[in-house]
Amino acid sequence: MAVQPSDARRPAQTRPALAGADPELAALVDAEERLQADTLRLIPSENYVSAAVLEASGTVLQNKYSEGYPGKRYYEGQQVIDQVETLAVERAKALFGMDHANVQPYSGSPANLAVYMAFLEPGDTVLGMSLPMGGHLTHGWGVSATGTWFRGVRYGVRRDTGRIDLDEVRDLARAERPKLIFCGGTAVPRVIDFAGFAEIAREVGAVLVADVAHIAGLIAGGAHPSPAPYADVVSTTTHKTLRGPRGAMLLTRAEHARAVDRAVFPGLQGGPHNQTTAAIAVALKEAAGADFAAYAHQVVANARALGEELAARGFDLVSGGTDNHLLLADLTGKGVSGKVAAKALDRAGIVVNYNTVPYDPRKPFDPSGIRIGTPALTSRGIPSSEMGAVAQWIDLVVDAARTGDESTVSKVREEVRTMMDAYPAPGLPLA
Ligand SMILES: *Cc1c(COP(=O)(O)O)cnc(C)c1O
Repeated sequence: MAVQPSDARRPAQTRPALAGADPELAALVDAEERLQADTLRLIPSENYVSAAVLEASGTVLQNKYSEGYPGKRYYEGQQVIDQVETLAVERAKALFGMDHANVQPYSGSPANLAVYMAFLEPGDTVLGMSLPMGGHLTHGWGVSATGTWFRGVRYGVRRDTGRIDLDEVRDLARAERPKLIFCGGTAVPRVIDFAGFAEIAREVGAVLVADVAHIAGLIAGGAHPSPAPYADVVSTTTHKTLRGPRGAMLLTRAEHARAVDRAVFPGLQGGPHNQTTAAIAVALKEAAGADFAAYAHQVVANARALGEELAARGFDLVSGGTDNHLLLADLTGKGVSGKVAAKALDRAGIVVNYNTVPYDPRKPFDPSGIRIGTPALTSRGIPSSEMGAVAQWIDLVVDAARTGDESTVSKVREEVRTMMDAYPAPGLPLA
């Protein structure tokens, strides 16, 4: 990525200390900023945080050690840190309607590992969605610690509908008697039936974990049903649709608070990342506002509109469309693999990831699909009326990937840049 002449002064202006101490690194941050400003970012797990979240995550809270929890620390000097963490905890509980919140997990994967530590012994059985069907590694998949230290059994989606079949989940749960059941995933374009999963978990005596990492912001904004009435534990990252810093939270019913807290610390972690806790608190405040509810609904409206525009251009969408922020397109009928398409789209300034589709005959490293999401473009204020143009670009570039037509890729790259200039991204001084 060429750094444009006008950018040369920027690091010194916005990050003077960094530019002075380490110009090489400062230039890289600047280049990443430029990339985020002028590409169309469609990775469903990514977003743009606000300038306020960005500022909170770069503070002197970084300098504090505070093992333990507010009022119960192993270090002195917690007069302020205790208040910061309490603010984040109280906001999390209020926003998601759960009894208890732990805001210390370093990220979504360690948060999920803490859930295993809280409820399972090594070798115990966990029921989760299969990774290539849309689940997450930490839901008991083989290469993950959760699938090697525990016995993972997996449900998927139906071949004919592309949707989770709760009858299959119930049959598996009855046969395998898992202690833990995960619902939620990373490539699930449809509403998660928390009530249905809760009924199954109750029947077999399992703890139900709703892993809402992808959809937490939609839940906060009222654009996806809440798991609060149904789940024993809600696990979420804070950096996807929730638009916070990279981090995670575990929300629980009162009866599980102690087990989950002890699993996070001292079970798995040492000192919490207080600068992240502060930024989570800011993001939770933002997510409680009316603007955020409008944002969450617009994310879904944009995904629906983009899905319809893609379907009209012959794209085969898993489950036929979407209820949330993401689309999974099977490119088999387009004559290219997901990886070839994703790389061509990246050259055109459209950033997606290649992804397996359910029952994918291809290998995970070069699968049949691409995964497309609208959280980041919606954060830029791009409206549904632009989804036709976005779908058209995707169609042109996927076809260009098949035919090797790089001039079309370059032409789309310029058009993408022009649209991005019209919709400045939050948190980017360049925009
Ligand atoms: C992203 C995600 C995670 C893991 O989060 P990391 O912060 O990447 O460790 C866990 N579960 C689900 C469903 C996710 O989408």
